[in-house]
Amino acid sequence: MQFYQPTSMREFIELSSSLSDEFATFLAGGTDLLPRYERGQAMPDHLIDLKKLSDLYHINIKDDVIQIGALTSIQVIQEKPLFQSEFMALHMAAHDFAGAQIRHRGTIGGNIVNASPAGDLLPALYAFGAVLTLIGPDGERQLPIQDFVLGPGKTALKQNEILVTINLERTPYKSTFHKVGLRQSMAISVANLAFVYSEKNGVFDYLKIAAGAVAPTIVTLDKLTSTILDNTSTPEDWPLLIEADISPIDDIRATAKYRKQVVNNLVQAFLRRELTV
Ligand SMILES: Cc1cc2nc3c(=O)[nH]c(=O)nc-3n(C[C@H](O)[C@H](O)[C@H](O)COP(=O)(O)OP(=O)(O)OC[C@H]3O[C@@H](n4cnc5c(N)ncnc54)[C@H](O)[C@@H]3O)c2cc1C
Repeated sequence: MQFYQPTSMREFIELSSSLSDEFATFLAGGTDLLPRYERGQAMPDHLIDLKKLSDLYHINIKDDVIQIGALTSIQVIQEKPLFQSEFMALHMAAHDFAGAQIRHRGTIGGNIVNASPAGDLLPALYAFGAVLTLIGPDGERQLPIQDFVLGPGKTALKQNEILVTINLERTPYKSTFHKVGLRQSMAISVANLAFVYSEKNGVFDYLKIAAGAVAPTIVTLDKLTSTILDNTSTPEDWPLLIEADISPIDDIRATAKYRKQVVNNLVQAFLRRELTV
């Protein structure tokens, strides 16, 4: 295996272009990647460590967009007041994420590119409409997160392309996050949910709900939220509308039936609390 550690984006582009016909693997915090090799997965021919790329650690505000560098750690997302004041669901997801060691080591970029259906930052990023900036040998491009994650462990990254920035439009909306796991944080989610909303006098004027671990990718509960926003559903309709957008499976952590029930309970509890029905 060849190991590389570029120290600037220019060096990275030169390196990734020079590997033209070969696929490199990228190392960020290593909290997903290294356990895979410990479990026996073959080592890659080319491993590029991204950690010396200082451009990937920034958090900037530009034209009402928060730009988060892909190497920003989960711990920084938990601690930075900006997330607590404007992106509460993301702050809460980082708070409920693993233990302190993993939060300091693991990155937001790694959580996205790992593309686990249970990734804890993903529901909030979907609900806030995150747009991702990617850079590779063919240049720079942007993709909405829902077009980037294609399935469990599958993304739209092209050969030797990396995720550099996560862009979130500043928002006046409130938000919250719920994670159900076999334990509170040191456990993979059985289901996780992010809610982004604006409500006045018991009526929503904005509502986005994203759910994880209940389908091959994160899903937004658009059938439910559109009928709530245009006032065409009643609480009796909600269970079927929720189930219309999810397709959970049985696995070692929970059954599909349990996951459906958990999502139903959490979504309905949220709606009933906000609408006081
Ligand atoms: C004990 C333990 C507990 C955990 N608990 C949780 C939890 O509660 N919630 C949760 O969601 N996850 C959890 N995880 C999973 C993991 O910590 C997270 O997914 C983390 O965010 C991964 O980030 P990383 O920087 O370590 O990624 P890495 O392991 O470095 O990379 C993950 C994948 O993404 C690719 N990659 C990383 N960064 C980039 C980039 N910028 N561009 C292109 N490709 C990239 C790598 O090549 C690799 O395929 C846990 C893991 C462990 C070991």
